[in-house]
Amino acid sequence: MLFDVFPRPRYLRVRAKGREGVVIFPTYVPGSYLVRDLERHLVDIEGIRISKNRFYVREEFWYTVYTSSKDQREALSTGNYIFVNPPAVFPFQDWNEKYCVRFHVDWPIHTTLRKEGEYYCSDDYESFSDSPIQASPDLKLVRIDDYHYVSSIDDLDPEKVRAVIREIDDRLGQRAEYIFFFRRSDKNYGGIEHLKSSSIVVPWDRKDLVVLFAHEYLHRWNVKTFRPKDLELDMEKEVLSDMLWFAEGVTDYMALVSAVRVGAVSTEEAGKYLANAMAKMTFPGARRTSLAEASRTTWIKYYKQDENFLNSSVSYYDGGLLLGLILDAHLTRVGERIFNVFKNIPQRYTFDDLDRYFRAKGYVDLERLVYSPAVSLLEELKTLLDVSVVDQGIPYYGLMMDNNRVIFVEDDSPADVSSIIPNDTIVGVDGTSRQLEVKDEVNLTIVREGRLMNIKLRSGRSPGHKVRFRVRGELSQAIFNLNEWFGESNLSIL
Ligand SMILES: [Zn+2]
Repeated sequence: MLFDVFPRPRYLRVRAKGREGVVIFPTYVPGSYLVRDLERHLVDIEGIRISKNRFYVREEFWYTVYTSSKDQREALSTGNYIFVNPPAVFPFQDWNEKYCVRFHVDWPIHTTLRKEGEYYCSDDYESFSDSPIQASPDLKLVRIDDYHYVSSIDDLDPEKVRAVIREIDDRLGQRAEYIFFFRRSDKNYGGIEHLKSSSIVVPWDRKDLVVLFAHEYLHRWNVKTFRPKDLELDMEKEVLSDMLWFAEGVTDYMALVSAVRVGAVSTEEAGKYLANAMAKMTFPGARRTSLAEASRTTWIKYYKQDENFLNSSVSYYDGGLLLGLILDAHLTRVGERIFNVFKNIPQRYTFDDLDRYFRAKGYVDLERLVYSPAVSLLEELKTLLDVSVVDQGIPYYGLMMDNNRVIFVEDDSPADVSSIIPNDTIVGVDGTSRQLEVKDEVNLTIVREGRLMNIKLRSGRSPGHKVRFRVRGELSQAIFNLNEWFGESNLSIL
């Protein structure tokens, strides 16, 4: 299919040429586990609607898409900037035919699509839809090194990114052109991976940015080259996998460890990041959910997180990060590293492929750690590093607060027993406007749905949510390139 795009603020007007028949607009974006119903942004189309995202069209037809999303999974058009993640704008007919697009603007355009005259092309929809396009009169291409670039309207010092990319390339050994599409925004949208690029949209004060760059870059191997066999691409329905702990969490681990090794993140920030992942394993959700189940339920849990998430589920990012460390620690004992996995599994791998590799390296506990509740990761870590839960038994209520609004109530905690619920706003503590502190007993004045009520809250004993870790000696040297490293979690629970 051939697309001619005529941009204006908030909209892209598109003239499409294909063959008479059905066109399909994707309902979600690969790499993101949310049915976004992208076709809802279609505001007009010359064609007959035959389902929510399929249309019968003539050989040539026009359509208009509302493009006002700052999310790099979708598309944005303003008076001086365009970003397009292709599934958000372009439909497909035959998966395996050529797709070309031309943007009718005089601005610099960056994309990894192949240039053919005025058009940018790819030989099938899979690679076409995996190739974002960015354009602006203010667009700059910042060189990281001979192969890697940042395309952005903002400034970015490439030094730390250069160091971490070199570290990753040294481990995984591939030199090919790659672009980071990067933009600052008023909100954190994170990143999304593509084979030859990634798109990153972060707030101006985002910390650990280099870990995010490393994470997206590592997806070039983990997910875009090697991916779970059950994650077959289907643009119209959910695909389920038990393996996101590996695809995402272990990617996060490799990103963190690479950034720490080359000194591109502060060890304090990185230590907090790791310790917070450990701390999440102390909540009820980690006693209820395995990493396999957390992966499989991402469409309804992780990507639709509510205020009860820490009670009901666990993040496969956090769990996979910890499991990555456990596996890497075992591999260092036999002179290998986690990165070597990719030399030993097929490009479409199953759990058994991974298990077989680790068993061959003398590690037999992978199945237990993936398929039993995630709390087992914390126990396993204690056998490898110095890990302690330091606030066990201290007085607590079981509440997380955002200023004076309750954002989390731990199951079976004193706050739960006192029937405090999320979104309660605490407007009085013992008849004053003091901040809530942990005491034997407090009388709370609460606003719930606009009604005032009084609740008596007695503290109980904390099951322990503050985690400290320390790693030293050979293990620390082999993995982190540090003689010693420690971290402490900072999740705030009263
Ligand atoms: Zn990722």
